[in-house]
Amino acid sequence: MQKSNLYIVATPIGNLHDITSRALSVLSEVDFICCEDTRVTGILLKHFEIKKELISFNARTESKKIDFVLRRLESGQSCALVSDAGTPCISDPGVRLVNSAIEKDINVVGIPGANAAITALSIAGIPTDSFVFEGFLPQKKGRQKKLKELSLEERTIVTYESMYRIEKYLKELNEYMPNRFVVVCRELTKKFEECWRGFPQQLLDDYSNKIIKGEFVVIIAPSNWKQK
Ligand code: SAM
Repeated sequence: MQKSNLYIVATPIGNLHDITSRALSVLSEVDFICCEDTRVTGILLKHFEIKKELISFNARTESKKIDFVLRRLESGQSCALVSDAGTPCISDPGVRLVNSAIEKDINVVGIPGANAAITALSIAGIPTDSFVFEGFLPQKKGRQKKLKELSLEERTIVTYESMYRIEKYLKELNEYMPNRFVVVCRELTKKFEECWRGFPQQLLDDYSNKIIKGEFVVIIAPSNWKQK
């Protein structure tokens, strides 16, 4: 463990066994951990019997906490940044901290692990040699414009969506990209993990038979791709 390092540590997206042994070593050895929600990370650390100072660091507090974290790093302490699930900075807070640390010549080290988008791509069964990651589409303003833009995108498109908007999103895909094959991955790595596959209209036709709880990754196949 090197002093003054900022470690960006991936944590599981559901299944606690998906944490790496390197992540556990880093979390055990750093001076303190910045996390989105101290309760969520507290549960993870308790499971692995790690006791560590936790600092709340989320979208709301990021700008206020950066200087404090940097000062501690500059004084020779080491810090791990984690999010509630998956890889920090990927549709999660942390980018500004990483950027500020780089400006201050602080060493930033990535500890790779789970990520919902990559896990979904790996089981989608559609071309992944080139893809565009869009994260969450805008919720209101700009959503239609973004959908229009994406309808012109030829590559595989990877998006995140919440359970509250998944039906609306499938209806939008049916409107903007009715001929694109879609894979919806729900609750990856968890007990009720499943994937729905089909064209938007097919997924909507079957929608009433589906369980709409949990977390979703929605992948849209390349425009020229046809399932065999
Ligand atoms: N940083 C995380 C990562 O590396 O995947 C993503 C954080 S983002 C705030 C949370 C979104 O990721 C969820 O709303 C969902 O779209 C997706 N997600 C996270 N865990 C998931 C899971 N187990 N199954 C499906 N989607 C998941």
